Amino acid sequence: VTFKALGLAPKILKALDDMGYEKPTPIQARAIPAALQQRDVLGIAQTGTGKTGAFTLPTLHKLSKGRARARMPRCLIICPTRELAAQAAENVELYGKYLKLEMALLIGGVSFAEQDKKLMKGVDILIATPGRLLDQFERGKILMTGVQTLVVDEADRMLDMGFIPDIEKIFKLTPFTRQVLFFSATMPNEIKRLVDQFLHQPVTIQV
Ligand code: AMP
Repeated sequence: VTFKALGLAPKILKALDDMGYEKPTPIQARAIPAALQQRDVLGIAQTGTGKTGAFTLPTLHKLSKGRARARMPRCLIICPTRELAAQAAENVELYGKYLKLEMALLIGGVSFAEQDKKLMKGVDILIATPGRLLDQFERGKILMTGVQTLVVDEADRMLDMGFIPDIEKIFKLTPFTRQVLFFSATMPNEIKRLVDQFLHQPVTIQV
């Protein structure tokens, strides 16, 4: 299977070509078509499988139409750590280089003033750690009602770090109609419960 056969936009295919990626990894080959059909996806996969591409590529495709409004991100990518958030941001920049999309990284260590300037201008994709996202929400800097895609990366690590209550809050603050792309390396009971509560008939992919 090729990236083209998965139905990704030509500008994304061009970026993949520039990177020298010849074909999708198994999780990408299964997750991308499901996500492009607007299905919720539950990906059970470790780092190294290409899971970051599995959620950033269909997300970018979906965002290639339409524009962001002030304080209303269209896509949220939630990561447990700064490092994972930075990695997702790097993927978005590389795969999205021919798309004119605005992205902001909402992690500790970046000044509130700087982040706020970006949010005010309008961002298509907000990549964040849960605590920083909720901080900004509580300060009135972000509205979550425009979110069309919610990505949760490494959910089992969120559990280890005590972030499950924050993740539940984020699910409840985003519209019921959003698409959810949810990734975890393992499926402990607390994660299963979250999936049962918030994902709608997900396509489950285990690699
Ligand atoms: P991840 O599991 O998302 O952390 O990705 C693992 C590594 O595989 C990263 O260094 C990616 O840049 C690389 N990668 C992801 N997708 C592909 C692909 N389709 N072809 C070749 N390398 C890839």
